[in-house]
Amino acid sequence: MVLIAITGTPGVGKTSVSAELRRRGYEVVDANEHLRAHGLLTEKDVPRDTFNVDMEAFNDSLEEYRRKDGVVFIDSHLSHGTDCSRIIVLRCRPSVLAERLRKRGYSEAKVRENVQAEVLDVILCEATDTDIPVNEYDCSEGTPSDAVDFIERILNGEIELGPPGRVDWSGEMEEWF
Ligand code: ADP
Ligand code: MG
Repeated sequence: MVLIAITGTPGVGKTSVSAELRRRGYEVVDANEHLRAHGLLTEKDVPRDTFNVDMEAFNDSLEEYRRKDGVVFIDSHLSHGTDCSRIIVLRCRPSVLAERLRKRGYSEAKVRENVQAEVLDVILCEATDTDIPVNEYDCSEGTPSDAVDFIERILNGEIELGPPGRVDWSGEMEEWF
């Protein structure tokens, strides 16, 4: 079994890309649902991706998927912390991300917190700190389908590992901080 982590700051497009992956016939684990089903999430933690998860228990709970054939994706901003074969870090331009999160009803404080995490490459750095191969894909423009085309090229071995940090939002720092 090949487990592939679809990760990134809240709002970058993980769940939209996951929906397109499912549409093309792939199995995608919705981590929120999965964690709840395994009793690893309390209800009060569910809204807005702010929950604290026992990562070891989360990782162990994915064993059922590791035993299967084929490819399974995991939709979660925590997925890069599991034993997976590949990490895809979705990215989003800060100004676009802020608009997406505002539309979702996030407070301005929460918007800034997430924009800061995106500008500082927090998830990318966590991902590249593992020994697992990492690719980034920018979901600021285009469609989830474009992202899935990219992911399928990875599956087909058509895409080399990009040097991490190809996406660089540091030029937008001043606008925010
Ligand atoms: P996440 O699961 O990472 O929090 P969502 O998929 O829930 O993000 O939200 C991303 C939002 O951005 C959705 O409203 C989606 O329609 C929009 N969007 C616009 N362009 C893209 C793109 N290229 N890829 C993914 N999402 C996009
Ligand atoms: Mg999501």
